Amino acid sequence: MKYDIAIVGGGPAGLSAAYSASKQGAKVILFEKDPSFGHNVRTSGVSWIKEMEKYGISREFYNPIKNFSFISPNNEAKISGNDDTACVLDVKKTYQLLACKAAAEGAELLVKSQVTEVSQNRDDRTNTLKIVTPAGQKSVEATLIIDASGFSSFVARKLGYVKEWQRYGVGAEYECYCDSVDKSTLTLLVGKIYSDAGYAWVFPLSNNRVRIGVGIGKPNSKLDPIKKLNELTQNRIKPLDSMGKIQPIEFHFGLIPNQGLRTKSVFNGLILVGDTVGQANPIVLEGIRYAIEFGRLAGKVGAESLAYGSTESSLRSYEIANKTTLEKKINSALKVQSRWLSLSDSEWDREIDIIKELTIDEFLDFIKSEFTPSRMIKVALNHPKLLAKQLFNLVLNR
Ligand SMILES: Cc1cc2nc3c(=O)[nH]c(=O)nc-3n(C[C@H](O)[C@H](O)[C@H](O)COP(=O)(O)OP(=O)(O)OC[C@H]3O[C@@H](n4cnc5c(N)ncnc54)[C@H](O)[C@@H]3O)c2cc1C
Repeated sequence: MKYDIAIVGGGPAGLSAAYSASKQGAKVILFEKDPSFGHNVRTSGVSWIKEMEKYGISREFYNPIKNFSFISPNNEAKISGNDDTACVLDVKKTYQLLACKAAAEGAELLVKSQVTEVSQNRDDRTNTLKIVTPAGQKSVEATLIIDASGFSSFVARKLGYVKEWQRYGVGAEYECYCDSVDKSTLTLLVGKIYSDAGYAWVFPLSNNRVRIGVGIGKPNSKLDPIKKLNELTQNRIKPLDSMGKIQPIEFHFGLIPNQGLRTKSVFNGLILVGDTVGQANPIVLEGIRYAIEFGRLAGKVGAESLAYGSTESSLRSYEIANKTTLEKKINSALKVQSRWLSLSDSEWDREIDIIKELTIDEFLDFIKSEFTPSRMIKVALNHPKLLAKQLFNLVLNR
């Protein structure tokens, strides 16, 4: 079978690409190896209400968040907002909504279908994919492949364009019943008792349902996040001690690249999107909104490129948008992250004192990696404390 565009991976990036490419009139097929979209949750699902609303993800798909708490071994900063700004997504429901949007535009979506081989024929500019499906092995041809396979970068690696990620985060999480949790507050936990190179989190879905997780940076630490997560939940380390009964309902596990954007995101007949190309904010491991935004762009640019044989030059506008929107932001965030990974517990206690000084808007800019020089200068002027200056100088020195 011949398609205009074959998409590998049915996470937020692939599903959003399938939606916009089909909307442009392209003949699209998408392959997802799991039995359903959102079947294996590989994320803790925190995002931003404004962006989610923009993509048609409404209130019924998330728990809204107004307050943010940062806890270190001997300190705590609570930053309260007036409005709901962040949200904790119902991940399965959200990804299946993205799948329905793509299907409504005419995309063909295959679950339990793993792409196992990819080749490019340089003469007639077609790509061939081999897929193992419940109905047996399948082979399809496509003018363009969108690699949305996430951390594995399956297609780009198979074709020899990229290598596997060297720096990455590993996260393990329980979605739990608990007797009581404040459903309007996100909590980040820093210091060695929570993670020796990273952080732990408490992300509520309601007053009785919460995601408790541990993220660890590799190769910085050899620690197993699952072991640390079990220690945290079994020993009821603060703030879990105030949540009454805690009963895990579901286990989540995932890997996220942590070394910035790949050098290139487009090749002849191929676009890389989402985690495949490193489109995530490393400070708080946040990639869902970028996966949707750049998935939509990849589908649109990809569909427009078909008239030109989807050559690398016809995909250039995607590469430019990727670099101009994300490169500086992610590189600055990596600097902050690298500093955070090296902090001792007592340094974290002092860092929390700096965070306490921030207004809600400054804090949000900070964790969203909105490090424009004008915003950072304003923050540094508003907070003449030496440590605050040091923190932001680090970001501005790029
Ligand atoms: C522990 C952890 C916590 C996170 N928390 C957050 C958070 O709170 N907020 C946030 O915004 N981001 C978070 N992220 C990041 C976010 O999950 C990713 O940035 C986002 O999922 C990237 O989307 P994607 O579509 O590129 O990749 P993925 O969501 O990984 O989707 C890739 C899909 O491709 C499929 N696939 C792979 N290979 C093949 C193949 N050969 N054939 C067919 N299918 C294939 C996979 O099964 C998968 O469904 C977190 C990540 C981790 C690891």
